[in-house]
Amino acid sequence: MTKSMYVPEVARYSAAIKHSFDLKQLKSVECSDHIIADDSTSLWRKVQTLQNDRVDIVLGNTGFELVAGLLLAEFLLALRGPIPFASQERADELQKRVQSVRSRVTNATKAAHANSEPRLLAVSKLHPPSDLMAVYERTGQRHFGENYVQELVEKAAVLPDDIQWHFIGGLQSNKAKVLATVPNLYAVQSLDSEKLATGLEKALCKAENLSRRTEPLYVYVQVNTSGEEGKSGVPSMKSPWSMGEEKPLLLQLAQKIILGCPHLRLRGLMTIGALANSRAAGNTHENPDFESLSQSRKHLVDALRSDSAFQADLRQARWWTPAGEVSDAYSLESETEFGLSMGMSADMEAAVALGSTEVRIGSDCFGRRSSNNEAGEVRAAEINAFSERPLVREVVFHTKDMPWFVNVCMNPLTFQEACTKDVCIALEKLGEDGFFPSEQAPSPMSPVQEMARRWKYLFEQGRFRLQDSRELPLGTTTDALEEFWTWPDSYGAMPLRAPSLLAELQKSGLVFFLEGSPTTVL
Ligand SMILES: *Cc1c(COP(=O)(O)O)cnc(C)c1O
Repeated sequence: MTKSMYVPEVARYSAAIKHSFDLKQLKSVECSDHIIADDSTSLWRKVQTLQNDRVDIVLGNTGFELVAGLLLAEFLLALRGPIPFASQERADELQKRVQSVRSRVTNATKAAHANSEPRLLAVSKLHPPSDLMAVYERTGQRHFGENYVQELVEKAAVLPDDIQWHFIGGLQSNKAKVLATVPNLYAVQSLDSEKLATGLEKALCKAENLSRRTEPLYVYVQVNTSGEEGKSGVPSMKSPWSMGEEKPLLLQLAQKIILGCPHLRLRGLMTIGALANSRAAGNTHENPDFESLSQSRKHLVDALRSDSAFQADLRQARWWTPAGEVSDAYSLESETEFGLSMGMSADMEAAVALGSTEVRIGSDCFGRRSSNNEAGEVRAAEINAFSERPLVREVVFHTKDMPWFVNVCMNPLTFQEACTKDVCIALEKLGEDGFFPSEQAPSPMSPVQEMARRWKYLFEQGRFRLQDSRELPLGTTTDALEEFWTWPDSYGAMPLRAPSLLAELQKSGLVFFLEGSPTTVL
């Protein structure tokens, strides 16, 4: 082969990458039907056992596969953890506790002849991340509740992304900004002022917060049903409201959330209730706090339905969803559109009997909690250990000797395998203005250029490395390590055909073979 056959490398690269950025086309391919074996779960487990290891990636085609390989590499370098595991005894204990709470919820639901079981919110405040992880893994629990902003933010950063966090503590409106940065913050249950609602709404409007969300933020208005001084929450609605009367705070706040906060979704009311009420009621199910919350919901929904000015605005309103705006976020047809978050460890049965849709259980799920320094240090140590523990130290890329490996048999003109030169061209070209024909250019370009800059920097730092970085003229036969990948040898032949490559790979924690489909991982 002469070098001249390799000249249109940029054109080749452009065509491949142009193709791969046609996301519409990518999305139209229904992949799951074509997957024969999916071992991604065990792969993910394997990745989590790495400890500051080297990972090798054998690159496949240029274009989409090359970009995917670089993205995968950057993702691997960013991985931290896993967080320390709870001891076997502790994990067993937590599993038993949560399972026993779940059967209590089921029994209480049956006893109340309710249609559906309330959701269990596992209140994990002051417990270390390892406890939450044990409950997450052993029982499949995904809804966790926290009381302190900083603690929630720190835990969310180190625990799995599919946890749905509920904030249930006292919230100052200046902390709303911080809370809204957590993409999997599912609900704020302690909303009790317009200022707080506006603060959350404003923070969610920021592109960097919004773009990472998959749902609106659900909110519950906290009601101070016991009327105790110093307890958060708006007053209960004890009687029906009629047009012309002054609007009670609960009604005002609900209307503000519904009409003025399109990124929030009012989901219901929440009460903590007085300890004394809960003690006095015992198992009799006559808890005045829970009765009052249920009554407030009825009066609130009746008022929303009968307020004609509000109804007129409601018909014009639009709400945010990740898929675009909708005009039907609320129907207000029945009071059960809103939930009742009530019931804690000590009074859960009474709450379920009175219509709770969400019980918030701390002590019975996790045991006693301690707010002393020692407990704080355990939490901090786990969180620090996580952020200081990279799984992957460096990524080594293996390129091909020649660009035609597979395709030569079918069409000698489609040279697509990634050679060293392709990697260099990709990094250069992706960083340039005007690389994409204007109608194909991602808009704006700067994130793509930023990405190319980051990758170049990682190569400079040596955290990305090419196994053989020589840009050899095409057709040069070498003893280069990359030669093995260029010919259709079986892995079984590696000890004989490429002993030095084998020795190299034995230094690696994990080897990915990126080749269209399937991706093979050694
Ligand atoms: C702590 C807390 C709970 C959980 O209380 P337990 O008695 O431990 O079950 C529930 N709701 C709120 C608002 C809390 O602060």
